[in-house]
Amino acid sequence: MTGRKCLALIAHDQKKDDLAAFAKANEAVLSKWKIVATGTTGARVLDVCPALDIVRLKSGPLGGDQQIGALIATGDVDCLIFFVDPLTAMPHDVDVKALMRLAIVYDIPMALNRATAEQLIDFRRN
Ligand code: PGA
Repeated sequence: MTGRKCLALIAHDQKKDDLAAFAKANEAVLSKWKIVATGTTGARVLDVCPALDIVRLKSGPLGGDQQIGALIATGDVDCLIFFVDPLTAMPHDVDVKALMRLAIVYDIPMALNRATAEQLIDFRRN
């Protein structure tokens, strides 16, 4: 991947409405990014923002989180917005942890809730 910076978007099921609303509210800023997303998250964001440039990867529990982790490791993802559900047990919890770990290892900006994502997008707008 070359050119525009790449943003990764993920939301757990209970947070997908919130991420879709966040994307709609920030559509103009997001349109400046190349976006990768886990499968269902990407579909939900495209429902409300069909013009965004989003590459949908596998669904998170089927390897999508790991795909995004690999893209971070290869330097192809510059920023991660991941709306995490802290109240539900995840079958792919180890993948979630591994993804967060790589975001820390490669020191990319990572927002895990909407409040932080709003700050990150605001910062990146300038
Ligand atoms: P999904 O994956 O967007 O395909 O639902 C997200 C996740 O649960 O990690």
